[in-house]
Amino acid sequence: MSESLSQHASNSAFGTAKSGTATSRTSGVARPHVAVVGAGVMGLSIAWRLAAAGCTVDIFEQGRSGLGASHAAAGMLAACAEAEPGEEGLLALNRESQRLWPSFAADLEAAAGMAVDLRTDGTIVLALNADDGAKLRHLISFQQGLGLPVEWLNGAEVRRREPHLATKLAGAVWCPEDHQVDNRKVSAALRIAALNAGARLHEDCPVERVETVDGRARGVIAKGERFGADVVVLAAGAWSRGIAIAPATPLPVRPVKGQMLALAMDPAAPILSHVVWAPGTYLVPRRDGRLIVGATVEERGFNTDLTAGGQLALLTHAWRALPTIEELTILEQWVGFRPGSRDDAPILGLSAEVEGLVFATGHHRNGILLLPVTARAISRLILDGEADPVIAPFAAERFLPRAAAE
Ligand SMILES: Cc1cc2nc3c(=O)[nH]c(=O)nc-3n(C[C@H](O)[C@H](O)[C@H](O)COP(=O)(O)OP(=O)(O)OC[C@H]3O[C@@H](n4cnc5c(N)ncnc54)[C@H](O)[C@@H]3O)c2cc1C
Repeated sequence: MSESLSQHASNSAFGTAKSGTATSRTSGVARPHVAVVGAGVMGLSIAWRLAAAGCTVDIFEQGRSGLGASHAAAGMLAACAEAEPGEEGLLALNRESQRLWPSFAADLEAAAGMAVDLRTDGTIVLALNADDGAKLRHLISFQQGLGLPVEWLNGAEVRRREPHLATKLAGAVWCPEDHQVDNRKVSAALRIAALNAGARLHEDCPVERVETVDGRARGVIAKGERFGADVVVLAAGAWSRGIAIAPATPLPVRPVKGQMLALAMDPAAPILSHVVWAPGTYLVPRRDGRLIVGATVEERGFNTDLTAGGQLALLTHAWRALPTIEELTILEQWVGFRPGSRDDAPILGLSAEVEGLVFATGHHRNGILLLPVTARAISRLILDGEADPVIAPFAAERFLPRAAAE
């Protein structure tokens, strides 16, 4: 597939204006006109990289940019803390993206002229009682077996690092390379960077379908109007399945609802400085004093209700780990939708059914972590036809019936 993509980059559809599209030239290299569906972190970052490389880029957003899952997230970059048996296949991708984050954040801050608050304080995964401790010791031996940089801390050491945590602790796993970033600032910065690079953002412009002619993507139909393009990138997060792409099989992406809340700490004297995972919850302290408490995991479709049960569970679990939250003001409560695929791994790369159609979706609970590697791999694929081996296991093809039969 990458061969056909690179062929097009130098030859026909990617290199020559067709059907009303406007292919551009940078240093003599023809660049495709790209339509990106969805202005979350995935769509915006790909648009930024492509526009900066000289492509004509149109981004279509059904509402306002950056207000989907990318706004709802906690911003944890948790490749190690979240490494669990059965997800080994994702680990290489997660770790590569984690490695890329510092340079990605620096590039983005320079391009947008604003900070994104990448904090490199590490993550603590707490055991509150002996049962949690036994479970965590089992998990840490699995994670160390995979070569991950994680270590065991006893209760006294955990309290030395975070004095406001509960007094009785059975210990914790210390993940020194699992950091966090302010995902809302990342979304805002990506919007600026993409626009500065020349991308055109069409907000309140829902895409109904991808236009295909003879099995090839030719643009999108949005608000009843046709917008031509050489390449279409589908980055519509949890909504990706709803966009018609005949003759392609609908993507197996579903919304996985998450409720969250934010509490107000005193920024001058925060009660927490590391990301902390505790049974049933996680706590993410921001530089501005916001303490993010997350998250429920619910299979309720696009239901946007905040429920007493969901909020109660989060607050109870958070209070057990960090009793002093009792005094804090609730700033905000919200719901977001993780884009979960059938196997909960992302869907990345070329469509096997429609030429010129590229997927960047299904990032589920790790889309902020996976942002730099996705932006790099998808932009290189479109610009140079270069297929990054790290995304090879995540092609949409794995969900096609014939792939299952093989
Ligand atoms: C509660 C919660 C907590 C999370 N915490 C973390 C975390 O700590 N760390 C982490 O790495 N990840 C986390 N995630 C996951 C992460 O937020 C997502 O994986 C990531 O934001 C996905 O980005 P996206 O751009 O694909 O989707 P989105 O941000 O949802 O963007 C998709 C965009 O497409 C638009 N769209 C949809 N349909 C159309 C259409 N037809 N036409 C035009 N536009 C359309 C939507 O309006 C939306 O703006 C969390 C998610 C949730 C919900």
